[in-house]
Amino acid sequence: MSIVLHGVPVGAGIAIGRAHLVVRGMDEVPHYDLDERELAADVLRYEQAIKATRRQLEQLRNNIPENAPAELGAFISLHLMLLSDVTLSREPIDLMRAQYINAEWALKLQADRLAEQFDAIDDDYLRERKQDMLQVVERIYKNLRGLETELEIVEDGEDDIILLAHDLAPADTVYFKNSQIAAFVTDVGGQTSHTAILGRSLDMPSVIALGHARDLVREDEWVIVDGTAGVLIVAPDDVVLAEYRQRMRAYRSHKRQLGKLKKTAATTQDGINIEMLCNIEGSEDIRALHNLGADGVGLLRSEFAYLNRDNLPDEEELFQLYADLVKKLKGKPLTIRTVDLGVDKNPRWFDHHQALNPALGLTGIRLCLAEPVMFRTQMRAILRASALGPVKMMWPMIASLEELQRCHMHLQTARQQLREREQAFDEHMPVGMMVEIPSAALTIATLIKHVDFLSIGTNDLIQYTLAVDRGDESVNYLYQPHHPAVLKLVQHVLRTGDKAQKPVSVCGEMAGDERYTRLLLGMGLRRFSMNVNNVLAVKNRIIQSDVDTLEGAVQRMVRNDSPEKAAAMLKKLNQTEAVSL
Ligand code: PEP
Ligand code: MG
Repeated sequence: MSIVLHGVPVGAGIAIGRAHLVVRGMDEVPHYDLDERELAADVLRYEQAIKATRRQLEQLRNNIPENAPAELGAFISLHLMLLSDVTLSREPIDLMRAQYINAEWALKLQADRLAEQFDAIDDDYLRERKQDMLQVVERIYKNLRGLETELEIVEDGEDDIILLAHDLAPADTVYFKNSQIAAFVTDVGGQTSHTAILGRSLDMPSVIALGHARDLVREDEWVIVDGTAGVLIVAPDDVVLAEYRQRMRAYRSHKRQLGKLKKTAATTQDGINIEMLCNIEGSEDIRALHNLGADGVGLLRSEFAYLNRDNLPDEEELFQLYADLVKKLKGKPLTIRTVDLGVDKNPRWFDHHQALNPALGLTGIRLCLAEPVMFRTQMRAILRASALGPVKMMWPMIASLEELQRCHMHLQTARQQLREREQAFDEHMPVGMMVEIPSAALTIATLIKHVDFLSIGTNDLIQYTLAVDRGDESVNYLYQPHHPAVLKLVQHVLRTGDKAQKPVSVCGEMAGDERYTRLLLGMGLRRFSMNVNNVLAVKNRIIQSDVDTLEGAVQRMVRNDSPEKAAAMLKKLNQTEAVSL
């Protein structure tokens, strides 16, 4: 009988193959007492295990294949840092000496202690570093025991291999790309765990956080991984197998087709060129951006440099970060959004716990205006980067003209400070604002006079228009991008931008969701900014659309007041062939 297990989807796609269970290294840790003489020898054994672990990780880091994910090196470096930390390099030895116990047991005690400390951390990202620590511990342990440290996959037969592991360390995935491994699943992991990030970058069907799935699977058994749905099917019967083989073929063929679009221009059937921009958070996605033929960065979420630290980044550090991005973009534009902190992304120094409703509190531009030194520091770094290439500055969460004027005042000061220091910047660097609050959308005719461009942040615009928390699953069904109230606001902003002859883009998730591509095209959008993973699917929709024939249907959709009717109309818009709409 087949079993269906649900986890967190990571890498999309479907794989069918034979299960290979990765043995856990630390299931039964030996525990014994030592006398003085044995203790000295065991301490030496521990020190050698640390050295061996360092050598292996360094070797892996120095031999990363070309086609491996870009972030792999950084992740292995993090493991090397964890290894050098006293908590792993010295404290287990202190425990051995204090309790006269063997090295393996001291390592286990220390790992349990550290795991507890990680579990108590509030910050999701930092808490998930527990897995990194445990992965390093496991490697030290294997070296202590003389066990094989590298993942051993016997590649024989024709069938694909599906890896089932308790967890996978970045180092385990180094050679995945050239192997017979078609998919992997793990017991543990969260959305921002390194395993999840690598799963996405490896472009391999993968599911994490499956609990104790491995207990239900036998070595060599047939399994199906549906990485899009986050499902593992154990021992599928013939009917299920046939169904998934068909789905796998369809998915692969669709992906191959999309892959061919990399060099194709995003031009509609009636010859309108669409600008394809990307939303990025750091430099990791820039290689993909170039590969996909995207036109530049429409949104750099700059918060990453402010998180997971106790202090604020200084101007030089920020400048270096932006300068590196400008260089890597090779002449393509970089739109840097000034920090948008305070709701889901919180620096440690910002205590928002008293806020009853953080999304309506001191967030986005409000927080920047309340912290002018921080704001101007970032502005100076952005201005300096503008001397090196096409950089634009964008302000988030603007709700009123007064806020916009205050932003301009700080910008003038930042410019003046640089002039006094005789530091170069582009005097004409474009400055724009995000439209993500209904009050801004409704008064956009006035606000637009004070900026060079607009970008509609539909994620927040939907949240604030419909009064639906974008992160609350219990009201997810009310989060409707196609709601006529949202569409009327988006349309109004696009038309106002057109009249003022100022560029308007959409950088919320709506722009990266192919279900809304035709709707946005029909409303007049010509600049889409999205996650790199969505570029080809959206481009595919664009080249299959005829804007001229879309406009009538889209106008009827915007004028209509019923979300249900809008949903039905949207479906029709996507079903119909572009030319015969
Ligand atoms: C948005 O609100 O649509 C947006 C792009 O900003 P963020 O998702 O970072 O809030
Ligand atoms: Mg937003």
